[in-house]
Amino acid sequence: MPQMPKIIDQTCLRAFLNSFDNVLTDCDGVLWSGDNIIGRANDAVNKLRSLGKKIFYVTNNSTKSRDEYVKKCEKLGFIASKEEIVSSSFVMAQYLKQQGFNKKVYVVGTSGMTAELDNVGIAHTDIGPEPLTVSPFKLPETMELDPEVGAVAVGFDADFSFPKLMRAASHLEDQECLFIATNTDERFPITDSKLVFPGTGSFVRCVETVAERPPLIMGKPSEKMFTVISEKYQLKPSRTLMIGDRCNTDILFGKNCGLHTLVVLTGVTKKEDLEMWSKSSDEEKHRLLADYCLPQLGDLVDLLKTLE
Ligand SMILES: [Mg+2]
Repeated sequence: MPQMPKIIDQTCLRAFLNSFDNVLTDCDGVLWSGDNIIGRANDAVNKLRSLGKKIFYVTNNSTKSRDEYVKKCEKLGFIASKEEIVSSSFVMAQYLKQQGFNKKVYVVGTSGMTAELDNVGIAHTDIGPEPLTVSPFKLPETMELDPEVGAVAVGFDADFSFPKLMRAASHLEDQECLFIATNTDERFPITDSKLVFPGTGSFVRCVETVAERPPLIMGKPSEKMFTVISEKYQLKPSRTLMIGDRCNTDILFGKNCGLHTLVVLTGVTKKEDLEMWSKSSDEEKHRLLADYCLPQLGDLVDLLKTLE
């Protein structure tokens, strides 16, 4: 049977700490939940930094620009600089720049995406609502496509609509038109509610279904996110730790890139999931099992004190 993630305690703390120089940490579900910090996550991350670890905040969330993330980090007590923020919107913009893309991007998303495109000087369409104002069967007569568009980028978009879906899929009829998704997360974790909050993956699947072709995915578990930072900062996978709460993105990303992995149980993944995967006969499920586990990231604070 595959091993359950090892709970970090004093017996393995030193070996754990000595195994990495760089920390990539997911944000929502690990550091904060919405606008609320999770326990003492800030003290834990700042302590790792003071021990000489390089920190990167790695998020699939496409709704905020890196500047907005720095502000959020600072507000919640995490030391952070713009260079340390790696969002799926940032990776999207870097990817298009590396490809020498020189047309316009049709954006199904928010200002988090357009701000990053602006940063690298790539043209894009305006964001915001495009509601259905006529019968959908009238749209083929009235909708005009922007001939400059050479890529469709789909991220989180609460204004997602039938006309947007039709526009996106129609651009993608041209097989030269790039199809990019910031991430494929199914849902956002929300606490104390019976409601389900749809994630970017739901919009991506809509477009993918109509377009009849798959997107290039920028966020975790795609390796693109690690490629962008590892090339820039020469990070060795074998000296890098990935911390996350969602195993099918964060931990799988870590495994795909050859990183050490730590799962915390303050977000999507529950202890029961880990037990279920470890007992499963499906080897794909075993890949979701991290090397290490902590109930919450802030637990590191007291553990690290024992070293002083
Ligand atoms: Mg998360």
